[in-house]
Amino acid sequence: MTSNDDLGKRRTGLVRHDVVVVGAGPAGSATALTLSRAGVDVHLVDRAELPRWKVCGGCLGPAALELLGELGLMADLIGAGAVPIPVMELRAGSRRARLRLPGSLSISRYRLDALLAGAVAKAGGEVSFGVRVEGVTPVDDGMEVRIREDGVVGRLHARVVVDATGLGGLHLPGERSTEEVASGSRVGLGAVFPSAAYHMCPSGELQMTVGRDGYVGIVRTEDGLLDVAAAVDRDLLARMGPGGAVSELLASTGGPRSGGNRLPDGEPSFGWRGTPALTRRSIRTAEGAVFRVGDAAGYVEPFTGEGMGWALAGGVALAPFVRQAVAGPSDRAAAGWTQAYRRIVERRQRMCRLLAHGLRRPAVVRAVVGALGVAPVLARPLMDATGRDSRVPLPTLAAP
Ligand SMILES: Cc1cc2nc3c(=O)[nH]c(=O)nc-3n(C[C@H](O)[C@H](O)[C@H](O)COP(=O)(O)OP(=O)(O)OC[C@H]3O[C@@H](n4cnc5c(N)ncnc54)[C@H](O)[C@@H]3O)c2cc1C
Repeated sequence: MTSNDDLGKRRTGLVRHDVVVVGAGPAGSATALTLSRAGVDVHLVDRAELPRWKVCGGCLGPAALELLGELGLMADLIGAGAVPIPVMELRAGSRRARLRLPGSLSISRYRLDALLAGAVAKAGGEVSFGVRVEGVTPVDDGMEVRIREDGVVGRLHARVVVDATGLGGLHLPGERSTEEVASGSRVGLGAVFPSAAYHMCPSGELQMTVGRDGYVGIVRTEDGLLDVAAAVDRDLLARMGPGGAVSELLASTGGPRSGGNRLPDGEPSFGWRGTPALTRRSIRTAEGAVFRVGDAAGYVEPFTGEGMGWALAGGVALAPFVRQAVAGPSDRAAAGWTQAYRRIVERRQRMCRLLAHGLRRPAVVRAVVGALGVAPVLARPLMDATGRDSRVPLPTLAAP
């Protein structure tokens, strides 16, 4: 997606764009795609090389799927082999509940993110992998973006920069901290395993195990591999290391002999990899000509599996504000985006914060899972409240 000519120009600082989007996850790609289709000159860059894998459960819920449908990407998603996940088996101690998961698909992140970046390129956006953004500085007519590519430093110029770099975000000059991290926040862990000899997680099922010190989701992706993603307390990780911490959580269900779960045998195909603290909020959703979106704007533990939905919704909703900032002074657009982001994403994240507190009470969790095992219909209000059966407010509502 990048030519040698482009590369040379970037090193001499000749390349100017309306918008540079940093980070080609769901948030950055959704922003870049929406802008490119509206005729805006966009350059989407990511420090990773393809195929790029990241810690994620890889489950797309109804809200995310609805947005991908609106972006016209549903056929591509199905073509890429995304697997329907109609069932979630929830485990806590010896309790089990099998719940219906309406409208959910699983897909590996390396395939999903490549598909999204491909759509940006098809819409006329420039897309470059292997380009790390090292800093962003305001200049007279926009922002200077310092990049490193193949070990060489270069510069891009943009009127507006979108920070879609995921947990942690970009640090701007003069900003001491861009984020507030929730005290006691768990960290994410993930790995992908070959699955030939693993019979504990059939295709079409998401297995969620909740233990005292965290929870683990296991799902089979379109390539038949097993995606293992967990949120764990830092103490458990420090004591046991990633594989040990996840095994400990799985063993809290009683172990394989009594119908519990375990990690697949052998070395992972990808991972183990970790994330920074998960629950965090950006202090400034937009500042000057830099707009944050997706996890870079804030995130809450992943139990409800909505992160990609929030990221896609944010990306689509951000596009009109970025266009406004490209066309004139960015202050009004920045204030507008800060308000819109609260309406679109932060409101939904409040419910997930409450749930994250509840998940730290093992006796309550076991009792709830026991009750759901007897009467799965009781899960309905929770599914509604966490967006499983309802929509993220439509992005068009957020237009300035
Ligand atoms: C354990 C776990 C399980 C999860 N399970 C699910 C799930 O099942 N379903 C769901 O919807 N969500 C899930 N999530 C959440 C989901 O993964 C995120 O919310 C989502 O990926 C956020 O998208 P994003 O585009 O904001 O960021 P990301 O997907 O993190 O993308 C950010 C991109 O920015 C790039 N980048 C970072 N810094 C730079 C830089 N300086 N220069 C250039 N590029 C840079 C990175 O390489 C990366 O590609 C889970 C999260 C965790 C931790």
